[in-house]
Amino acid sequence: MADTIPGGSAGSAREAQAAVYWMGGDPRWQPASTEGPLTRTVHADVCIVGGGFSGLWAAYWIKRLAPDAKVVLLEREFCGSGASGRNGGWVNGWEDSIGTLVSRFGAESAKWLLEASIAGTDAMRAVVAEGGIDCDLAFEGALIAALSYAQLDGLRGLPVAAEAIGRGDLIRELSAEEAQEACGSPRAVGGLLLTKAGSVQPALFVQGLRRLAVEAGVLVYEASPMTTLRRSHPAVVETPAGSVVADQVVLTCGPWLAGLRELRRTLFIIPSHVVASAPAAEALDGLGWRHGRPFADSRTSVHYGQRTGDDRLVFGRGGGRLGYAGRIIPSHFHDPAEITGIVADLHKLLPATSGLPIEWAWGGPVERTQHGSPWVGSLGSHGNVHYGTGYSGNGVCPTQLIGRTLASMALGLDDEYASSPLVSAPPSCLPPEPARSLGARAVRAAINRCEEQADKGLQPDRVSRLVSRGLDFSMPKMPKGLRLPGTSCCERRAD
Ligand SMILES: Cc1cc2nc3c(=O)[nH]c(=O)nc-3n(C[C@H](O)[C@H](O)[C@H](O)COP(=O)(O)OP(=O)(O)OC[C@H]3O[C@@H](n4cnc5c(N)ncnc54)[C@H](O)[C@@H]3O)c2cc1C
Repeated sequence: MADTIPGGSAGSAREAQAAVYWMGGDPRWQPASTEGPLTRTVHADVCIVGGGFSGLWAAYWIKRLAPDAKVVLLEREFCGSGASGRNGGWVNGWEDSIGTLVSRFGAESAKWLLEASIAGTDAMRAVVAEGGIDCDLAFEGALIAALSYAQLDGLRGLPVAAEAIGRGDLIRELSAEEAQEACGSPRAVGGLLLTKAGSVQPALFVQGLRRLAVEAGVLVYEASPMTTLRRSHPAVVETPAGSVVADQVVLTCGPWLAGLRELRRTLFIIPSHVVASAPAAEALDGLGWRHGRPFADSRTSVHYGQRTGDDRLVFGRGGGRLGYAGRIIPSHFHDPAEITGIVADLHKLLPATSGLPIEWAWGGPVERTQHGSPWVGSLGSHGNVHYGTGYSGNGVCPTQLIGRTLASMALGLDDEYASSPLVSAPPSCLPPEPARSLGARAVRAAINRCEEQADKGLQPDRVSRLVSRGLDFSMPKMPKGLRLPGTSCCERRAD
């Protein structure tokens, strides 16, 4: 059975180098000399589709576990052209979602998932050291600041949940003074320090993972979008000028996976946008920002940032136009209104930055799920097409775990990764359009109202509070055993 994923030219090398500081502004990032595009038929044990962190980690682990496996990686534009090369560079596991993990999976599985996600930071350290990847990876703990008493209330449960699971060491509570000193915002009323977290220059990390993949013998074809997927055995992945015939396929196309009919109702696509200032070491010293200790507040449309290795302020915000029916639209890569809003938020949050020149501004699409965490599944009746998606804005470190899990599945291993709670059918089902977009718009407006009121120290009104909860679970979870229309098999098969 064939299916297509629409491509589109957003995220091209030219766009990325003109807009994204990590690529256009850091001389250490260089466009790679490439094998691609694919212009013939090749045979492979595993064909990976998508050259972001997920696909490159999957390639890394497959070659570590089975060095002789023939692995081909296809990428629509160039490796890192999606979210992996354009994110905020926060590096953390799931220590900020312990409560959600426990309520979804139970304490025992939550503990496994927490430890496995944190192990991603060690894997990043190891691969950076072994591979000599120059990407400013640094771990000084990450700051989550509460900028209102409502945000502070929302954070109180986290240290308790960490303590309850035996990892109280992962989260330290900060007083108002400590939080203000760490982020420079007079509005901070408290906060948390995620002690094992840090930051990275993401595009350089992708560049390094890509190099390691090529050195390990992976054939990387860029400018080679999958146009058609035949869910046969072997599976066939077609590109405009060639094809890959593969025993196993691993789909790591990030938000673009919403274009697959099986996943159309599981992901909603919204952008996140980022700005980068001119180098400003003195101003950042004054604010208390340290390289390796990224910043976030705790709004739903989260503000986040870091001090780069060359002393720029990188600052971003999640949110923007929803892609109708899971589509990726040009404004996900650049929305002038979002960028204006982010700069205004920055000046409000950190008045001392109002004179800082903003030199770079860009965006990128993020796939979100109702439950806020990724999962790994399989498609087709042959059980040989696997995918991992749904990071919901926290993927820099968790992609390691998903890539490791996909490697186990593609190699048919019967190990703790292949049998982890991350491997499942799509965990939820969104309403069809246009209900989804209309509902999401109403929920987002209510969240914005609640957050604006909370910022002013006011109690959010009842209607907004009620509607804002729709973000989490306005849509019914898919009953067990129910398949999405057009899905022939969502369960993983051993053969
Ligand atoms: C602006 C922004 C800021 C963010 N900040 C953070 C942060 O600070 N910390 C954090 O943890 N997470 C952050 N995230 C999320 C994080 O970047 C992602 O979760 C992570 O990079 C996902 O990696 P991926 O490999 O799954 O997807 P992607 O990096 O999106 O890679 C998917 C790749 O698949 C390719 N592709 C798509 N369709 C096809 C096709 N048909 N054929 C071939 N290839 C295809 C794409 O071109 C792309 O390169 C942010 C995201 C954005 C956009």
